[in-house]
Amino acid sequence: MNQSANPFIETTDAEDRPREACGVFGIYNHPEAAKLTYFGIYALQHRGQESAGIAVARDKKIDCHKGMGLVSEVFNAERLDWLDGHYSAIGHVRYSTTGDSTLTNAQPFVVTHRGKSYAVVHNGNIVNAYSLKRELEEEGSIFQTTMDSEIFLHLFVKSLKRGVEEALINTVRRLKGAYSFVLLTSRGELVGIKDPNGFRPLCLGRLTSGDYVLASETCALDLVEAVYIRELEPGEIVIIDDSGIRSIHPHEAVRRSCCIFEFIYFARPDSNIFGQNVYQTRKALGRQLAREAPVEADLVMPFPDSGNYAALGYAEESGISFDLAMIRNHYVGRTFIQPTQSMRDFGVRMKLNPVKDLLVGKDIIIIEDSIIRGTTAKTRIKTLRELGVKRIHMRISSPPHRYPCHYGIDFSSRGELVAARKTVEELGEYLDLDSLYYLSLDGLLAATKVADPKNNFCKACFDGCYPVKFDSNVSKMCLEQANAPI
Ligand code: SF4
Repeated sequence: MNQSANPFIETTDAEDRPREACGVFGIYNHPEAAKLTYFGIYALQHRGQESAGIAVARDKKIDCHKGMGLVSEVFNAERLDWLDGHYSAIGHVRYSTTGDSTLTNAQPFVVTHRGKSYAVVHNGNIVNAYSLKRELEEEGSIFQTTMDSEIFLHLFVKSLKRGVEEALINTVRRLKGAYSFVLLTSRGELVGIKDPNGFRPLCLGRLTSGDYVLASETCALDLVEAVYIRELEPGEIVIIDDSGIRSIHPHEAVRRSCCIFEFIYFARPDSNIFGQNVYQTRKALGRQLAREAPVEADLVMPFPDSGNYAALGYAEESGISFDLAMIRNHYVGRTFIQPTQSMRDFGVRMKLNPVKDLLVGKDIIIIEDSIIRGTTAKTRIKTLRELGVKRIHMRISSPPHRYPCHYGIDFSSRGELVAARKTVEELGEYLDLDSLYYLSLDGLLAATKVADPKNNFCKACFDGCYPVKFDSNVSKMCLEQANAPI
């Protein structure tokens, strides 16, 4: 459902956060494949809340159910019973970064070619999608969706006469950008694919029954009680079928560019991604922030929940006590109210309420993981000022977001990123803060504890150095955005 057409307007708190692209899950040949896939995508719900879907391969065909909304809204016991059986299955949760938010664009996508069916789920953005789609349409392809993910299936079936493996190799060699795919064939084969730069996480696990599982994050493995085996290598294709599991590496090695923002914000703190624990990394970001920008105060507090773990690290390093001085109302999701500016402020306040007794007359340090438009932070700080907080210092556990993401994360265009329009000093004044400090890029890289982090991470939204070139029209768009008056 398109948000603007929806009378149940999301409160604007959500609009001022970066949104995740998608979560993918797959399981090979299990007696309760659909149910485990349901739990898998349930665990990945934070990666996309617009639509959910599950496809199962049974009796040499693929059955699929998908719908708009949360996993718990799209599936019920009846639906799962209809899909259940001893099969392979894949699942998806989506937030749209390309294509409209409609049921047509919900995944899995299923196609039939010469009597065989294939289903695919995708996390990421294919950055040469525009030219590939134009080329395919000139050759006669008809697209059912406006999603870049559909291009994968068109390229794949075009090469199938040489077999599945050859088709996979030919397909991924044509794609550029960020992609973690899971593919299911009507014979029940399961395939995991990661792009050569390794932008998005995709891991392999194994159930006690010996069956393999693929998932965007390890929190999904935990829920289905699968043991983590490893993260897929950048550029790796893993094929799971009756003969076991095998890997192909069809690309020449390029510089690894794992999305560093997965650690800062997107991934669940109980997950391990790219071989590192997210919770501990976020705490390390907070500790680094405390070393880089110490300040005297009575308490350290997060804007929950995104700032929680970095705030714990900041408090630990600084020795200043940690308090949850703003409490989230977990039962506020949507409101009927039209988003006029005054109602926007009201919507933000509905979500968080300050604990007055902790805050009145105090000097505080607020920890947040990022500032995108700044509207939410401004409203929250205004609330704290009105309450009688004495001094408000803000520390951000990432560098300023000055550039849009083209690899599957929905940051606003550059013009909407407040840090691209204002200096840190100007932003501090705009937010009515006593001091504002962003974590340095070097500090961010150091806190990941990855060897040679400069050659392992994409950090383009912070420094504008995009590791993969875009389609010419996307580059043009990007240049236009970069040159736009701000
Ligand atoms: S630009 Fe930022 S959000 Fe996008 S992939 Fe790179 S690090 Fe991640």
